Amino acid sequence: MKVLYVSSECAPFIKTGGLGDVAGSLPKALAAKGAEVAVVCPLYSKISHDWRSKMTFVKSMYVQLAWRNQYCGIFVYEADGVKYYFLDNEYYFARNQVYGEYDDAERFAFFSRAVLEMLPAINFRPDVINCNDWQSALVPVYYNLNYNYRPWYEGIKTVFTIHNIQFQGQYGREILSYVLGIDDYHFDNGFMQQDGDVNLMKAAIVCADRVTTVSSTYAGEIQTPFYGFHLDAVLRWNQGKVCGIVNGIDTDSFNPETDPHLFKNYTVDTLEDKKVNRRQLLEMCGLQADDDTVVIGMVGRLTSQKGLDLVQCVLSDILEQDVRMIVLGTGDYEYEQMFINAKWQYPDKISTNIMFSADLANKIYAGCDLFLMPSLFEPCGLAQMIAMRYGTLPLVRETGGLKDTVKPYNQYTGEGTGFSFTNYNAHEMLGVIGKACYLFRHNKEAWKAMQVKGMTSDFSWDHSAQDYMNVYEDTIKNW
Ligand code: ADP
Repeated sequence: MKVLYVSSECAPFIKTGGLGDVAGSLPKALAAKGAEVAVVCPLYSKISHDWRSKMTFVKSMYVQLAWRNQYCGIFVYEADGVKYYFLDNEYYFARNQVYGEYDDAERFAFFSRAVLEMLPAINFRPDVINCNDWQSALVPVYYNLNYNYRPWYEGIKTVFTIHNIQFQGQYGREILSYVLGIDDYHFDNGFMQQDGDVNLMKAAIVCADRVTTVSSTYAGEIQTPFYGFHLDAVLRWNQGKVCGIVNGIDTDSFNPETDPHLFKNYTVDTLEDKKVNRRQLLEMCGLQADDDTVVIGMVGRLTSQKGLDLVQCVLSDILEQDVRMIVLGTGDYEYEQMFINAKWQYPDKISTNIMFSADLANKIYAGCDLFLMPSLFEPCGLAQMIAMRYGTLPLVRETGGLKDTVKPYNQYTGEGTGFSFTNYNAHEMLGVIGKACYLFRHNKEAWKAMQVKGMTSDFSWDHSAQDYMNVYEDTIKNW
């Protein structure tokens, strides 16, 4: 089976969040299952020179986007049985940031169009194209409008994966023909339109052969008004082609036994060495703590999705207890300021790190006792799985992938790999933090048993990659 995996980011080349991790690890797992896999991603100027020097130039072509005719270079890099293609156009991709530019619609429309144009040029005719999120949502749209009747392309199946339904690629109708090169008719008939705007994700949901999302719980949630961000009805109409497959993590790079970022590597058998990481992390962050103090970590985007309104509500109550907090993230000004202010107010209790650092992230996963992730919604979430892999117990809200991957502690049976609460309520969260701290101080054995369960749980892609293969096979045969 030949699979083309289309993503706007891909670790380790370029990553802003979970999508980058998935694009960096799922294709490898598909290749290990016997698929012939190619990944394609824009060649951003932010991709380091080290990586660029390892790529080989394949050829160049011109890509038509409405009235524009734009250059596109194709580069390739091969590793772990996967070919990674990079599409080069400095006008679109030599920018200071990956997303958030004034012309994102045009940049990613160019990318989507170039992906389809590239296929005959590299002589790779996939059986399935798996595209991801709004940035590549135009791939199935262009495929259905402009390519599927051409003999070379005929019969290719498209799968669209939603990693976060909050970001849909919404633009005014004026971009439709002028920028995207799609006839206005498709706005008026509703295909490209949602709530009066052009909506790229909606169009992909309608026209892709299959729609997947990144956990079973989220697959159900997004079909309800609260979680669906106005696309719930479209998803319900297309219910038959929607399914959820939980993400895995790259267990080779997130491995406490070999992770080069750690102060000291450890395994379930040498869990004592996790304490070395705890001690040195605290020292690095300028904090002091004894063995009974609970060190709470947070790593992630500082946005309301991540439950920061709850944290804001009870941050002082948390920090008044015998805990230390180490926060790493960037995001909304309001939440960055909240943690910066907390540092002024509680200088001995909290370390605030407003930046993106894979090195510090891994040190936090390894050096903390508890990992706080009380998301309002969470399609899958990788951070909680990484934390468990490093023996740090997650405390999460029961939503999306958090519900599917963290088994809550049961005080009667001792079962569980973390802690959870149900309602989006700050004091419910505070209560569970209190219980977790109590357990940490008074029942070290139960704590350690949960650490071991988390560290030995299977978070690899093995099982989920098979689920993707089954979806691809079924789509090829039956859709
Ligand atoms: P999302 O995709 O919603 O941002 P996930 O939990 O699925 O959240 O994935 C986030 C990934 O990005 C994790 O690997 C996490 O460690 C990483 N990450 C997020 N923020 C930072 C940061 N400031 N520094 C380093 N890594 C980060």
